Amino acid sequence: MEDQFLEARRKRARGELLSQAEAAVLNGPAPFEGRTVSLAAPTGPVGVARRDEAVQDVAFANGDDPANVRVFSSQDLPDGPSGNQRGADLSRSAASVIEGVGRIFGTEYRFYDSPNSEARGDGFVLRGRRPGVAYVRAVEGDAAPLVVAGHETYHTFTSAERARFSAAIEPYVDASDVALLSFLSDYTGGRYRAKATELVRVGVSPTEVIDSVIAQAQQDGVANLDSAKLREEFDADIFGNRMEDSGFWEKVFTELKAQDRTLLIKIRDSVKQVVSYLKSQTGKVRGFNNDQ
Ligand SMILES: [Zn+2]
Repeated sequence: MEDQFLEARRKRARGELLSQAEAAVLNGPAPFEGRTVSLAAPTGPVGVARRDEAVQDVAFANGDDPANVRVFSSQDLPDGPSGNQRGADLSRSAASVIEGVGRIFGTEYRFYDSPNSEARGDGFVLRGRRPGVAYVRAVEGDAAPLVVAGHETYHTFTSAERARFSAAIEPYVDASDVALLSFLSDYTGGRYRAKATELVRVGVSPTEVIDSVIAQAQQDGVANLDSAKLREEFDADIFGNRMEDSGFWEKVFTELKAQDRTLLIKIRDSVKQVVSYLKSQTGKVRGFNNDQ
């Protein structure tokens, strides 16, 4: 076991592709086995404290009464999807994969349900208040939980990692990401959807598209937008929505190779976990590009 661990670590240090078994040895329990402690029904004082902390965070983020917030770890969730058509409907196995991806980035995942979450979105991080923790809706939701988890994981990157990621994806955002760019219009009341879509279609880079929409919105007095914040949201969407797109990652990894091998390996290991899970669950989980 120890030899296996050392060998896997050497391979990772050399930047070689790890087998699933090797990744599991390095990243802790296999992603399919939820071995986390229960948050819904904690046993010891440590578990109770973790549950209370999570309840307070969700209540804080969503403006809910803590009494109406429920929180879960993977082991609290049902074996399979319960047939909910609206999204979320997080199963134990999918939640375990999300927890596994979190371990790669040093992030703990907590899952939740609360009355206000429908209006407040499908996940969040509280960078200042609770660093190293990310939250994803478990019961209801608009987007697939794996996509949401990718998005929230991106928010846990360091600012240096985010800068490298932005630069690496810049040449590879294309017309297939037009739907993503519509998020820009969410910040401007839908006004610049067509403009953003057209700019991407003719090959303008995301940086220029975002800057151009911001400048136009400012000129029109529609909104005063923060370019860095918008760019982070955009990149988070790319990370979540493109998770299963191996062609995209091959290109991005080539860009990242010279700049940040550690980040490359973390992203590659997490993409591998998600993709192998999706393969094992063909037709059984809501996958990707359901972010509308
Ligand atoms: Zn976000």
